[in-house]
This record gives sequence, C-alpha cells and structure tokens, in this order.
Amino acid sequence: MIVEMRTGAAQEEVDGVVQRAKELGLGIQLNLGTNKTVVALLGPNTGQLPIDIFAVLPGVERVTRIMKPYKLASRDFKSEDTVVSVNGVEIGGKRIVVMAGPCAVEGEKQLMAAAMVVKEAGACILRGGAYKPRTSPFAFQGLEEFGLELLRQTKAQFGMPVVTEVVAPHDVARVVEYTDILQVGARNMQNYALLTEIGKSKCPVLLKRGFSATVTEWLTAADYLLAGGNDQVILCERGIRTFEDSTRFSLDVGSIPIVKKSSHLPLIVDPSHAAGHYSVVPALAKAAIAAGADGLLVEVHPNPKEALVDGLQSLTPSDFARLMTELRSIAEAVGRYI
Ligand code: PEP
Ligand code: MN
Repeated sequence: MIVEMRTGAAQEEVDGVVQRAKELGLGIQLNLGTNKTVVALLGPNTGQLPIDIFAVLPGVERVTRIMKPYKLASRDFKSEDTVVSVNGVEIGGKRIVVMAGPCAVEGEKQLMAAAMVVKEAGACILRGGAYKPRTSPFAFQGLEEFGLELLRQTKAQFGMPVVTEVVAPHDVARVVEYTDILQVGARNMQNYALLTEIGKSKCPVLLKRGFSATVTEWLTAADYLLAGGNDQVILCERGIRTFEDSTRFSLDVGSIPIVKKSSHLPLIVDPSHAAGHYSVVPALAKAAIAAGADGLLVEVHPNPKEALVDGLQSLTPSDFARLMTELRSIAEAVGRYI
C-alpha cells in the first residue's frame, strides 16, 4: 500500500502515518521525493487492511494499493528516475555509462592492459570478476581475494571505479572493501540470502536478470535489496534462455522499455553474455541503447585468444574502440550521449 502525502505536508503528519503503520506491525519505506513524501507500507497482510485507516490521517493526499508483487522497485512508489552515483559517475542520467573489461581478473598485466584500453575508448567503469560462478566446478573459479587486490591496484592507477561479482553472503563485507559496485550474477538473482546481505550495505549493486526469470521476478528480487535499505540498485538485462541456440542467450530487448516504464531503477544491458560470440556483441549493444538502456556492461580482453573465461564473446581492444565510436551516434539519436 502506498500513502502519498500532500505537497508540503508537515513532518508531524508524515510521522503520524509512520506511527500508525508501526502500531499495525507494518514495515515502512519512505520516498522523500522532490516535492512530496511517499510512504510504502509493507507486510504480508496489507491487502486485508482498509485503505481508510491511512486516508483519514492528516496530511494524506491519497492511498493506493500496489497490485504488483514488487513494491519498492515500482514507479508507483517512486515516479522519478533513480540515478545511482558511483564515485562521480551517474548511472540513470542522460549519459550512457559503459562498463567494460575482462570476464575474469586473470593477472596484473591482463587487468592493467584491459583498463588502459577501455578507458582510452571511453568506458568509465572497469569490470572484472574475482569470484566466478562457473557452471562446472572444474572450470577456473577466479583469483578470489588476489583478484580483488588487483582490482584495487588497477583502480588506483587508472582512477576508474570497478564492478565485480560477489557470490556468497559471507563474502559481501570483504568485497565491499574493494569494489565500487557489487555485481549479483544471473545465477544468483534468486539467492535471497545474498540479496538480503547486500541490502544491508550501502554499496551500489548491479542486479543481473536471472536467465529464467520474468521481469516481474527480477524486479521483485530488486525489492529484497531496496527493503534492506540499499537504494543504490542498477538492473542489468543479460539475456534469457529460450529455444534459440544460435546465440548463447536471447537478449530480451523488449524488457528494456517494460522495465523503464515499470521501475524507477536504472537499467543497463550486457550484450556479451547474451551474444556468446564477439561478432554479435556490437549489434546487441546498439540495439540496447536504441531501446532505452542507460548503459552497457561489455566484456573486453586485451587478447581474447588467451582469455581463461569467455574469450569467444570478448571484444578485442580495437573492436571495442570501434563500437564506442558507433554507439555515439545511436546515443545521440535517442537524446543521450556517451
Ligand atoms: C559475468 O558478468 O561475468 C557473468 C558471469 O554474467 P552472468 O551472471 O550474466 O552470467
Ligand atoms: Mn563472462
């Protein structure tokens, strides 16, 4: 249930709503919008409460039920776009933010070379996995803490914020020490213990769509982060599993306008995991920006032939530089810039 306060409602009036919600055992989240406060009332049984309980309180303009399973990620709760700020880089504003780098951190030389080329081409956030959730237990699992250390050094050298994946709740506190954005991978979108732990932190988080998750399930997963008090949430579409097997996953371009309409959260697209092949990545990246995505997460390797993970879908430095140039005119055509 959503309680919209009148424009200019007094603090005591907002407190009155909060107090009443607490008496009824409800959870609350406040959206202190630019001109009016919105209070989300959360709990398993809000559907049974008459809305008049809140509608009669002083300062209340309107009370409505959110019929969707996701509440805090919804535009009903917050109509204006959320802009997540990461060390001065704004995600969800007019600028298209490109995050790029290798799938996995493999070593100092590789990461430094990747950072140099992606920065040079115009990316503003460096990606690199230190913990890799691999389908096979025999595949390279990442350099773990040493990988985090390399990310820290590279970040210091290039002045670029970094995004890296966290795969287990007990690792969250450690990874937060090194990263600017925590990535939740597709395989962990429904790892609710992980989401709950990240929700307690204030670190920006990139929530990938699970490859068998609907948009509704994905936005409801985002509610776990938001309900914990972490409002720095960025969504990432990375393709879903369909019967089509000529690409690694099917990029759901349609989810882009749907998510932008249904949610206030910024949305970026990972064309690399959807494509599975470097030759397909540029077209998907361009389609994503044309469809309204706020940014991209692209795998780039200084030498894809030697990559330990996802070499086939990684762009070479020159392919990435070309893509960035091509993306500029697409961004401009949709009223954005890179
Ligand atoms: C990744 O970004 O390296 C990754 C593992 O992606 P996903 O979780 O989308 O498969
Ligand atoms: Mn990868």
